[in-house]
Amino acid sequence: MQNANPFQNALAQLKRAQATHSTSSGQVVLTDTLVERMSHADREISVSIPVVLDDGSTKIFEGYRVQHSNARGPYKGGVRFHLNADIDEVRALALWMSMKCAVANIPMGGGKGGVRVDPKSLSKAELERLSRGWVGALWRNLGPRVDVPAPDVNTTPEIMGWMLDEYQKRSNDFSSSSKAAFTGKAVANGGSLGRDKATGQGGFYVFDALREKFGIGTGVDSNGGVTVAIQGMGNVGGHAVEIFHAHGYKIVAMSDSKGAIYAESGLNPEEIEAYKKEHGSLAGYPNAKEISNAELLALKVDVLVPAALENQLTADNAGAVQAKLVLELANGPTTPEADDALFARNIPVVPDILANAGGVVVSTFEWEQNLKGEQWSEEDVNQKLKEILATEAAHIFARAAELKTDLRRAAFAVALERIGTALKV
Ligand code: NAD
Repeated sequence: MQNANPFQNALAQLKRAQATHSTSSGQVVLTDTLVERMSHADREISVSIPVVLDDGSTKIFEGYRVQHSNARGPYKGGVRFHLNADIDEVRALALWMSMKCAVANIPMGGGKGGVRVDPKSLSKAELERLSRGWVGALWRNLGPRVDVPAPDVNTTPEIMGWMLDEYQKRSNDFSSSSKAAFTGKAVANGGSLGRDKATGQGGFYVFDALREKFGIGTGVDSNGGVTVAIQGMGNVGGHAVEIFHAHGYKIVAMSDSKGAIYAESGLNPEEIEAYKKEHGSLAGYPNAKEISNAELLALKVDVLVPAALENQLTADNAGAVQAKLVLELANGPTTPEADDALFARNIPVVPDILANAGGVVVSTFEWEQNLKGEQWSEEDVNQKLKEILATEAAHIFARAAELKTDLRRAAFAVALERIGTALKV
């Protein structure tokens, strides 16, 4: 049976990693105490956020911050604005952040935030009041050494700017290091060069470090013969499209929440971006065939990149996947049942906690630059990002071979070992 609750999936992932680890290594390194502690967040905060709408009425929104673990550093993770955001989704995302920061070996713990809202239904002024309201309700629990939020689905550098401004006012701290309270800010407001592209860029570095092991060539050597389908065209998917295309890969399919498009001969991302800007969506783009999101996931491509939301590959459709490799740029796109089905069919899944770690790695660079009053070049940022992700990708690949398991279990095992060391449990 497919489980659509992301938190239940995250808990299953913890237990599966523990079981594989002790069976394969013949010793219990990942203790029950560790797994039990990781199954519970340090703190879960639910708040009511009253927002005055433009018509003068007041609407209350539900907001959350889950601080999962600070065993390795301050809580770190994005804030999502989405109608489906709820405490279980935020719990799962926070747990994955702890694992991700440990996989990337950066000095951060895991947290996540959310607001249950359709942001498209709000005016810009209302969106600003909601963003400030989230901080107003939570600022005592945030701060550069405590908990450092960032963008996620439907939250942007501009929103981070409003949130930081509200945090500085509330805490009466306008020092330059107080900018480290939020990452993913605009560059003019203390953001890091390279942060906007970082998740897509990091995904590409991880892919590039592993592709040969899965028999996939470079885009340039294959003269565009390596095909890629990407689900989601937001911050992550949009940049991933650009970066893969720039490296000579053929993007044959793309999608957003309104629909998907396919062209066997390849799509031109720049043209599509321009179309999307004008029409608000990919739907109706004339130079490609319209397909459904389900069809996109089942395309015969070399690389399938889910970059939208959770639970896209499930027990119901994993059997239809024909890609050679799945690169998870979204969080939680594959359920545990789908993991098993894909592993049994020799389709490797590069897990979210490795593949999309680029965002939080460069967020950590931004935090460090703010604390030290520095500004690093984009070249430096990308060089450091590549070093970290290529090293950790190779490490996790080797651990998967050692443990005779899939990359997700190996990545969770590595993360749990590191967190276990910090917690001494
Ligand atoms: P975003 O809001 O910028 O974009 C989301 C995209 O997904 C949009 O293009 C939207 O149209 C599309 N989408 C929504 N529902 C869809 C559906 N059913 N089918 C196809 N497309 C759909 O968000 P984002 O920041 O790009 O985040 C995307 C994913 O990446 C999320 O899972 C997020 O948690 C994860 N992620 C984001 C970052 C980051 O730095 N922003 C870092 C790591 C992971």
